[in-house]
Amino acid sequence: MKQLMVKNVLDWINEIAPFETAESYDNVGLLVGSMNAEVNKILVALDITPDVLNEAEEKGVQLIVTHHPLMFRGTKRILEDDYEGALISRMIRGHISMIAAHTNLDQSPEYSGSAALVKALNLQNVRQEGFMFVGDLPDAPIRADQLRGRIMQIEKDAVYQFGCDDTLISTLGISGGAYDEGFEQARSMGAQAYLTGEVRHHNALAAIGTGFILYQGGHFGTEAPLVPLFAKALQNALNALKYEVVVYPSTRRPYGG
Ligand SMILES: [Zn+2]
Repeated sequence: MKQLMVKNVLDWINEIAPFETAESYDNVGLLVGSMNAEVNKILVALDITPDVLNEAEEKGVQLIVTHHPLMFRGTKRILEDDYEGALISRMIRGHISMIAAHTNLDQSPEYSGSAALVKALNLQNVRQEGFMFVGDLPDAPIRADQLRGRIMQIEKDAVYQFGCDDTLISTLGISGGAYDEGFEQARSMGAQAYLTGEVRHHNALAAIGTGFILYQGGHFGTEAPLVPLFAKALQNALNALKYEVVVYPSTRRPYGG
């Protein structure tokens, strides 16, 4: 067995979701730590939070791979007194490296949050344009309220439906996270309904005014399904490369309760 280093993990992620495909505003790749740090345990999480760092410390990981980056808006100082500065300081003190795979991963047909939801809902005839995934329901058509119930079971979280319960849905668009303006793209790709994480009022009105259904599945709810999927794929890939490592999917949920 070989000793894994941070750069080996970066290389694998770059193969399945090339960092250069991230949006220009994004902040991806190795954000904290060292390319050459040795790694025996990895935690995969949606975000760095104080609770995720507790989990990382309890498990003794040397690397955290997250979906959402830190230092997203041109950080000029790292202070222990700030929420984010404290998180970064804690990782540095604990010799924990951190990689973010964000909008590059969102476009992955295999490992994005949207791809995980597409699989879980067993959508057929799936087509993808950038961040948008559209597919046909296996038992189409079904009522909008039935589909809402199905999404809730997968996410194990609340899902808010904009539009009438008895609207019939055959084709669903999915793009996890914050992309409610994508409903028009979903419709142009043949969907009658669209699931995303966060829905603003003006987009809800514009959608339901034309008989289109929007589902707000929560930002965490729509993207968290990527965590176990991605962690398993990373473990399998590193096993195949003969690295000795354990990859843990984070089990922490951020909103309490
Ligand atoms: Zn997100």
